[in-house]
Amino acid sequence: MFFRISARTLFTRIVSVIIVSGFIGSLFGQTFLAVSIVSLCLLAWHYNHLFKLIKWLWQGKSIAPPQANGIWGRIYDGLYRRIRKQRLKQKQLNERIRKFRDGAEALPDAALVLSTELIILWGNKKASKLLGVRWPDDIGLRIDNLIRFPEFYKYLGDGDYNSPCLITSPVNNELQLELRMMAYGSDQILLLARDISKIQRLEEMRRDFVANVSHELKTPLTVVRGYVEMVQASETALDPHWKKAFTTIETQVSRMDRLVEQLLVLSRVEHNVDADNHQEVNLSRLILMVIEEVQWLNQDKNHNINHDINHDIAPNISINGNEHELKSACLNLISNAIAYTPANGIIDIRLRNDGNKIRFSVKDNGPGIKPEHVNRLTERFFRVDKSRSRNTGGSGLGLAIVKHVLNHHHGELSIESDWHQGSEFIIYFSPEIAK
Ligand code: ADP
Repeated sequence: MFFRISARTLFTRIVSVIIVSGFIGSLFGQTFLAVSIVSLCLLAWHYNHLFKLIKWLWQGKSIAPPQANGIWGRIYDGLYRRIRKQRLKQKQLNERIRKFRDGAEALPDAALVLSTELIILWGNKKASKLLGVRWPDDIGLRIDNLIRFPEFYKYLGDGDYNSPCLITSPVNNELQLELRMMAYGSDQILLLARDISKIQRLEEMRRDFVANVSHELKTPLTVVRGYVEMVQASETALDPHWKKAFTTIETQVSRMDRLVEQLLVLSRVEHNVDADNHQEVNLSRLILMVIEEVQWLNQDKNHNINHDINHDIAPNISINGNEHELKSACLNLISNAIAYTPANGIIDIRLRNDGNKIRFSVKDNGPGIKPEHVNRLTERFFRVDKSRSRNTGGSGLGLAIVKHVLNHHHGELSIESDWHQGSEFIIYFSPEIAK
């Protein structure tokens, strides 16, 4: 029901009351007295209702307002309607919040809602199991007062929430957690923590398995290779049929040997066994050494290998890292350029300080790589053209090794390639590791 009252109606009513009371008063010769008494009664009536309204607003227990007639009845009705509307909205909002919380409780992950100042606003039950953050007891506390790990502080400090942060659970040091934070709404942050202990254990098992198998394969391969070489070197001439067979065995054993060697290198860099073995590495000297070493690979291809690295001119390009791993990364890029570029190609190798980063690049005028393959090149065993790669003795592990080495050295790999035009593989080392 909608009640409309205008200023004109109000005015007409007051004037009518005054005229009527004045008229009645005039019948008794007391016009002024009659008007005054009626006005006072009107005022008292209004004050009485104002008083009731204030009492109801401040002390009333029921949502139903006091009963009244006339204009005050309308006022109370209006207020009552508003309160009911508000209650309905509140109920709907509570229902939505309850549904959101039920949904968040059903998540297999710990979920926390934080303010932009990292104050805890809400958390699900999993958050208390995985992170030790109890809701509602810990409301109002800062999350970094409860999760006190240097890696978490660094994650918050960097403010780059695109990648996850890995920590050990503050309540159970056997659990490994992956934390992700994302801003939502205008002033809230959602923090999700997932238990990745099982995945990590499986990943570790896989790495150990590959490392052990590769290691175990090494000895039998060496023995087979030794015997094949012995037979090939023997003075007695072999039947041409057997000669061909032994040559094939030798080629395949060498391929397998290279594969096992690459697998061992990959498992070493994956385990990051040389993490503590970092020292100053003179990149200029190291790359010159690699260029020297790959000359024998270039014998058949006869590429024109150019470089601008002169240890005497730029002796100061050094970084802090593991020499063995860095050499392996550079060697992989240069030997790929040699292997995949058709004979008599041009390979340019550059090393320079580019702004505040160190840039190492290997550019060739080989077949190039299709854009859809570029992102997959660093996956283990990924080869664009399996038969071509097999012919070049490729295992698909070289760039995976490069990726892991760069992860340990704050480095980034950028691949620029035009199909049929050539490729450029660029490594950027961040200034953090520059000496
Ligand atoms: P592989 O041992 O097979 O060379 P990599 O991981 O080093 O393995 O390289 C992955 C794939 O990337 C290769 O199989 C090849 O198809 C492609 N690739 C790498 N470098 C080049 C290059 N310079 N030019 C063209 N293709 C390349």
